[in-house]
Amino acid sequence: MTNVTQQRVLHTEIPGPRSLELQQRKVAAVSAGVGTGLPVYVERAGGGILVDVDGNQLIDFGSGIAVTTVGNAAPRVVERVQQQVADFTHTCFMVTPYEEYLDVCDALNELTPGDHEKRSALFNSGAEAVENAVKVARHVTGRQAVVAFDHGYHGRTNLTMALTAKNMPYKHKFGPFAGEVYRAPMSYPFRWPGGPADCAKESFDVFVQQVHTQVGEENLAAVILEPIQGEGGFIVPAPGFVRQVADWCREHGILFIADEVQTGFCRTGDWFASEHEGVVPDLITTAKGMAGGLPLAGVTGRADIMDAIHGGGLGGTYGGNPVACAAALGAIETMRSENLCGRAREVEALFLPRLRALAERFPQIGDIRGRGAMLAIELVRGAGDLTPNAELTAAVNRECHAQGLVTLTCGTYGNVFRFLPPLASSDELLSEGLDVFEAAFAKAVG
Ligand SMILES: *Cc1c(COP(=O)(O)O)cnc(C)c1O
Repeated sequence: MTNVTQQRVLHTEIPGPRSLELQQRKVAAVSAGVGTGLPVYVERAGGGILVDVDGNQLIDFGSGIAVTTVGNAAPRVVERVQQQVADFTHTCFMVTPYEEYLDVCDALNELTPGDHEKRSALFNSGAEAVENAVKVARHVTGRQAVVAFDHGYHGRTNLTMALTAKNMPYKHKFGPFAGEVYRAPMSYPFRWPGGPADCAKESFDVFVQQVHTQVGEENLAAVILEPIQGEGGFIVPAPGFVRQVADWCREHGILFIADEVQTGFCRTGDWFASEHEGVVPDLITTAKGMAGGLPLAGVTGRADIMDAIHGGGLGGTYGGNPVACAAALGAIETMRSENLCGRAREVEALFLPRLRALAERFPQIGDIRGRGAMLAIELVRGAGDLTPNAELTAAVNRECHAQGLVTLTCGTYGNVFRFLPPLASSDELLSEGLDVFEAAFAKAVG
């Protein structure tokens, strides 16, 4: 971080010649199934800047998909990791344990919503956390069915592909998928027939009706929901929807799993997005923002649920690796001491007026949504025509990339442009990124 100046610098076209060379090697060495959104090869990074192999400095509006919330190579993460990697790199917690794993579980138990007694278990990825949350829910309830939502994203393993809604690219021809997974309609205010007001009135009833008739409450182990959907389009459900679903689950002995892999750890302006909804999930899955870029994930839940599993029933060779735990402790310390939840709200306050002003100029911006530093715009054909505009979304994205701004799109229809800047970015850097974005938008509209 210390040796990366926090400014955008372009020496070459993006991608530059050295990146293009490496991309040729990529084609020859790496499976075509692993895509790259922007083939700029990174050599160093710090705070909110990525430095590529051609010496260009790019502004990061993606945080490696909501991971480097504390900034890239954040000082406390670097320090803790360097110390830990020199002390020891692995023992396997299931063989001979270590204290850093306990420290991370204590932090998860303390920071996640609710002051009831909790237990945690650590894994390597968001998908693995989700798989384990479902294992726990099935084991504890003695029921098998799991309900996930339209537009939901929960990962790419076999069970989590089944939970994920979107076919291309995540599921296409990768079946058969895990059984006993059912899909419910999502509370999606912008695209609800009749609009947001009807969505608020109707979406919970539609959910209950469908699950009741197609699954049956007594067959249902768990409902899994992202409190703000990530890959599916940064969809913020109608006010009260998350709470209603969680309450309904409790009434019927169904476990409510909040998948906070993307929304967790200050991203939305709270430690967890469930807090904003006044919801205390039975189980909560975490990963992305937790460890400043090292692979680490968690399942945290009510002690009675998490302790109902037989010894050896949960685990994995690398789950809760000591270096990843050290990184998480450095990241969490940074979030606490630098009040990154507050910083996420400042980011929202900086972005929203700019996005609203842009929407005044361009009727192709149909919706602005999100919370904290998890914000998005949904692009449509124009005023009164809400047809998804994936072409414009891709064009804006390309133009941002060409100008040295690393941006991401998402959404079931590929028409959502999302903003996930590191919370270590200064106001100046964020404002410059927004300047680039606005110019790119105007140019792409033509
Ligand atoms: C990214 C994501 C996952 C999967 O996490 P991986 O670490 O990629 O396996 C699961 N759920 C949500 C909400 C996510 O955003």
